[in-house]
Amino acid sequence: MQVVSDIASLKSIIEEKKQKGLSIGFVPTMGFLHEGHLFLMRMAKAENDFMVISIFVNPLQFGAGEDYEEYPRDLERDTKMAGSAGCDLIFSPTVKEMYPPGYATFVQVEKLTEGLCGASRPGHFLGVTTVVAKLFNLVRPDRAYFGQKDAQQAFVLKKMVEDLNMNLKVIVLPTVREPDGLAMSSRNKYLTPEQRKEAVVIYRSLREAEEQIRKGEREAGIIKENISKLILQAKHARVDYVEIVDSKELHPVSIIKDRCLIAVAAKFGKTRLIDNVLVEV
Ligand code: AMP
Repeated sequence: MQVVSDIASLKSIIEEKKQKGLSIGFVPTMGFLHEGHLFLMRMAKAENDFMVISIFVNPLQFGAGEDYEEYPRDLERDTKMAGSAGCDLIFSPTVKEMYPPGYATFVQVEKLTEGLCGASRPGHFLGVTTVVAKLFNLVRPDRAYFGQKDAQQAFVLKKMVEDLNMNLKVIVLPTVREPDGLAMSSRNKYLTPEQRKEAVVIYRSLREAEEQIRKGEREAGIIKENISKLILQAKHARVDYVEIVDSKELHPVSIIKDRCLIAVAAKFGKTRLIDNVLVEV
């Protein structure tokens, strides 16, 4: 496995693989890898000849006062883990390499980015689409792999690929969870032991919502209220949003008629966690 941090080296390795006709699978990450990332990587490895990951904590997708500085970083640990998942190449650029002085080009997906995390983190998706568009241009993957945990991100990136006629397939894989149900996330590291125990309430509330729907409840308001109530029973929890949206436009629904996404963002202390479930009706 190779680790490169400059664009010129990355381009020349990719060109060589393309010349040989190898297919490329790509997993963009911000590092501090966990089983969720490794799951995407194993799939990327299984479905492609050459597997590339990027590790880049992208300042553009963090708002003022968010955790850009504190975001956990450990390239040595990540390199070992990625190697164990069959990674062939890690691209780990500096901020200056990605955004040199005078950088002025941004990619924006409209509409899908307005609600959910887009509403509570203005500018976040502009940062995501810009960096992922750049990474796609550099890595030139046949297939790129993303997690359902960041459901809105996956929707937005699929739309970007479609609208900009990018020549790759976006593959979205299910959320990998801790044994107690908490969605794996690099940010779980910030939680105190007490907050960590409490945080399981997010998934529990989503499961309960699924159960309510299964039993026939269709009023989104009632389901959302129940989710919030459950989460707020945890001492350190604050709800950022609880939303039920359709699974095409991500518009809030009041009556559940079709496949929908139930999405939650909640803070435990300073740590903002997100999770979601897709519900078939
Ligand atoms: P991140 O490093 O948090 O930006 O995540 C990189 C990729 O891994 C994104 O596509 C995420 O959706 C995905 N991912 C993060 N956590 C999980 C998880 N628990 N299960 C599956 N995929 C995940």
